[in-house]
Amino acid sequence: MSYTNKQLEQWDKEYVWHPFTQMKSYIQNNPLIIEKGKGSYLFDIEGKAYLDGYASLWVNVHGHSDPELNSALHEQIEKIAHSTLLGSANVPSILLAKKLAEITPGNLSKVFYSDTGSASVEIALKIAYQYWQNIDSQKYKHKKKFISLDEAYHGDTIGAVSVGGMDLFHRIFQPLLFERIAIPSPYTYRMNEIGNEEEVKQYCLKRLEELLQTESEHIAGLIIEPLVQGAAGMITQPHGFLKEVERLCRAYDVLLICDEVAVGFGRTGTLFACEQEQVVPDIMCMAKGITGGYMPLAATITSDKVYNAFLGNPEEHKTFYHGHTYTGNQLACSIAIKNIELIEQRELVKDIQIKAKAFSQYLSKLYELPIVGDIRQRGLMVGIEIVKNRKSKETFSVHEPIVNQIIMIARSKGLIIRELGPVITMMPVLAMKQEELQQMVDIVYQSIEEAISHYTSVQ
Ligand code: PMP
Repeated sequence: MSYTNKQLEQWDKEYVWHPFTQMKSYIQNNPLIIEKGKGSYLFDIEGKAYLDGYASLWVNVHGHSDPELNSALHEQIEKIAHSTLLGSANVPSILLAKKLAEITPGNLSKVFYSDTGSASVEIALKIAYQYWQNIDSQKYKHKKKFISLDEAYHGDTIGAVSVGGMDLFHRIFQPLLFERIAIPSPYTYRMNEIGNEEEVKQYCLKRLEELLQTESEHIAGLIIEPLVQGAAGMITQPHGFLKEVERLCRAYDVLLICDEVAVGFGRTGTLFACEQEQVVPDIMCMAKGITGGYMPLAATITSDKVYNAFLGNPEEHKTFYHGHTYTGNQLACSIAIKNIELIEQRELVKDIQIKAKAFSQYLSKLYELPIVGDIRQRGLMVGIEIVKNRKSKETFSVHEPIVNQIIMIARSKGLIIRELGPVITMMPVLAMKQEELQQMVDIVYQSIEEAISHYTSVQ
């Protein structure tokens, strides 16, 4: 099929409905159409290079078109692309499950595959609910609610949206959702009235404990993004917060679900974020980085305690009736095995820790700019909160879309990053070189400076 670049642009506007996108404004601009990738760079159809400061939506680990990952994919495709896990098994899904059981914390050992982060969350919620029903449906008949944090984001399917708390994304679907109970998120920067980080932590934990004291009989599970709430604008949790959440879940008989979809596979400086607080959830969700950004794959891993509750004779009806057509897909599982092997061989996690320190130094320079209110970082996960006034922390109004302008200026200078509300977010390719991280921060600095020059209202 032959086509011109102009035709591609036109067909994109005519036929593709983009996610999370107001299409009316999208079609007024020329789309950025990516054609190739190499290392930390993406290349558009005109051949222009961009640093991938967003790791192609937080997934890319070793860089684009990694020769070893490419060969792993070729090797597998010569054997088979897909067969089903319904009634049969396949080699890569067995080997990957064994590996995931080895590298995840504690006694997590039973892997349920799916294809997206949302599905891995959906599965975790269904397992948590059914777990209590399978153990004792009389005693636990009321356990059907979930707890999650304010501003929580766990995906876009209806179950995942039910445990979500982002008004902009989730409000419209409210009538379709099951009940969740929100607890405050420890968003220290915006909780002046509560106090410092430690006081904010204690405040949020107290709210959780009070809730559990009265409601635990109705709660099947608590779902949380460990260490950082990504989509909420990189809200970093105070040290010790997650550990206390775990303790409270245990004390009040509530299953703990850690959603490691965004933070897993090295992003925060350990292979899994919950390791940093020695937390072992009952259920853990993984996706994004699991295949290094190559194939859609997700996994929900549970402890033996959870899994064993699903064992029984057919008449006991304990089976987990859930499964997707591409569950355990061979291409995806084989690339995930290679991805993990390379993370280990290349000592990527250690490398991320070293780079994160340098990154933090580069980022601190951004405080020279008057509209940079807060910089939050864990590993290679960064949020820069933009404010109109540093003292009052007032944000720009919807009529002053400065954050989006910064993103677009950065793009024109060859860097792809994105905004989440008033926050500029950076999630670089995990193997990005130190000098590329520096370059990224330099571009962000220049872009903010340039955007400020258009605003007379900056104080
Ligand atoms: N959980 C978290 C924490 C996420 O950040 C995301 C996606 N950004 C999801 C779940 C959903 O993953 P997916 O987009 O693959 O469905």
